[in-house]
Amino acid sequence: MNNRKYLLERVDEAAVAQIYADGFEGLPLDQKILIWHLYRAALAGRDIYYDQRYAHSLEMRDVLEEILTYSEGVDRETLAEIERYTKLFWINSGPHNNLTARKFVLKCTPEALAEAAAQAQRNGATFTGSLERLRPMFFDASFEPSVTNKSPGPGKDILSESANNLYVGVSMVDVEGYEERYPLTSRLVKTENGLVEEVYRVGGRYDREIREIVQHLDAALPYATPSMAASLRALVKWYTTGEDADRAEYDIAWVQDKDSPVDTINGFVEVYMDPRGIKGAWEALVYYVNREKTENIRKIAANAQWFEDRMPWAPEYRKEGVRGITANAIDVVVEAGESAPMTPVGINLPNDQSIRETHGSKSVSLSNVSEAYEGSTLPEFRREFAWTEEEAVRAQKWSRIASELTTDLHEVIGHASGKVAEHLNGAPQNALKEQYSALEETRADLVALYFVADRKIVDLGIVEAADHEEVVLAEYEGYARNALVQLRRVREGTQIEEDHMRNRQMIVHWLMANSTAIEVRRRDGKTYYVMTDPAAFHAGVARLLADVQHIKAQGDYEAAKALFETYGVHFDPALRDEIVARVDRLNMPSYTGFVQPRLEPVTSADGEITDVSISYPLDLTTQMLEYSGRRRQA
Ligand SMILES: [Zn+2]
Repeated sequence: MNNRKYLLERVDEAAVAQIYADGFEGLPLDQKILIWHLYRAALAGRDIYYDQRYAHSLEMRDVLEEILTYSEGVDRETLAEIERYTKLFWINSGPHNNLTARKFVLKCTPEALAEAAAQAQRNGATFTGSLERLRPMFFDASFEPSVTNKSPGPGKDILSESANNLYVGVSMVDVEGYEERYPLTSRLVKTENGLVEEVYRVGGRYDREIREIVQHLDAALPYATPSMAASLRALVKWYTTGEDADRAEYDIAWVQDKDSPVDTINGFVEVYMDPRGIKGAWEALVYYVNREKTENIRKIAANAQWFEDRMPWAPEYRKEGVRGITANAIDVVVEAGESAPMTPVGINLPNDQSIRETHGSKSVSLSNVSEAYEGSTLPEFRREFAWTEEEAVRAQKWSRIASELTTDLHEVIGHASGKVAEHLNGAPQNALKEQYSALEETRADLVALYFVADRKIVDLGIVEAADHEEVVLAEYEGYARNALVQLRRVREGTQIEEDHMRNRQMIVHWLMANSTAIEVRRRDGKTYYVMTDPAAFHAGVARLLADVQHIKAQGDYEAAKALFETYGVHFDPALRDEIVARVDRLNMPSYTGFVQPRLEPVTSADGEITDVSISYPLDLTTQMLEYSGRRRQA
């Protein structure tokens, strides 16, 4: 078990790793069948996200997958390049890098691609799209260069400069004063007769995919607990109408389903891809509760009010009667859409602030994803950026525990905490616009960094008293170190787009400028971010957290923007180049895409499901082609 394969392959700066769901086989049959139907509902929506991310993605993917399926006799060098590009395309769900938002391109010539396609065609491939039309999409890095551009520079428009398919022909001027009826679940199109919302629902945009999702959700109903069935029915209704009121009903039903051993997230959820922060990207996850690991997270959740009462911010922003935070450690069986192949490690939903305040939220940490990350990380990576051997050893020994704990605090206490001023009507994102997501991630991270050092963690029995100081040091050192190491992910340009990265960059640089917690040191031409004073770190976190909560609570857009512009967005390209050289020397990946477990039903002679088997493909190409109904021809 211990020497099983996590790291499967490297593709340029990406790693590919396998996720295992060990507990699945021990689940009762009805839960396995339930998961089987939810699994199919998850995979049924996969193409929605590809299309949302880029209007040409599906056509591009078809070309690539047909060539790989019928590759016999294709020029070797060309085939190797098409394979490299296609793997990155799958991992990033399209031609734009998921972290930098920037486009990557095919490095062979258009003629070589055409030749490969012609050879594949002779082998039996069929092509529906036109290679000529797709030429700039495949080969020109300056054509539609960014999927999401929230900081396009003075005078430029965040919608026009973003290549995603959430808007067509719309710029910020058009949406000023325009109120969408389907803010989360529509594509907004500018026509001769004004703006039109193309609603994601049965009979609307993505009709075919959504119908299939609904069919599998319906099939799951008989196997669900009553509270989960209520939630699934509400989800089907939302998919049917697309109405925001039905979305709210579903959010509430989903939050109220607290104790079911199996759960799913399926729908238009996160808004990171939209520079306005309003349109939902489609995603799905299916998972079961990992009982063993859930114990710690439950202890934290049970004490939510204790933490809330001690938030280092103005008392008027503290919530009274914190309720309904349901926290679980879970193992995912499948992820699709925005959550795969690159996956989050923790999730807290729903995003609707007013529902969180009145009904609470559910929070999950993805245990088997963290396990796969750890299992595929090599120890040299930590040593390279640690200032002392002691720091490296500490990271090796404690960072897993520290990061599980801070992820729990981030999701369970962080996102769920705090109150906003009345005048925001429970929707601070409307005031904070494109700054909202990064600010909210900052807030949740700061809450985790603040409480990880609290004696309460020991009192709750989560960390031994003797180990606590080391765990805190490992967390603070790792946090500072990672602001430097994460620069490897932005190989081009001089600014950071991704919200979680902006957040980390901002916190660390704010602490550098406003406290004595972190020093920049150099040795042998290498730069280090060295955490030198944990008490100053903790005090700095408290001050910044008070500011950040105030900004969120008041919807102070200018203050949020100033924080990120000063500390979070821009970086020194020379420093980035140094980091890139160091990680490349170690062949260290910038990000990881995951191969999901595979389910298959076992049926009796009369077609009844008698069991569901789980297996692990250990190969990205096999899984991706299979998802598209393809299989490599020998
Ligand atoms: Zn978060």
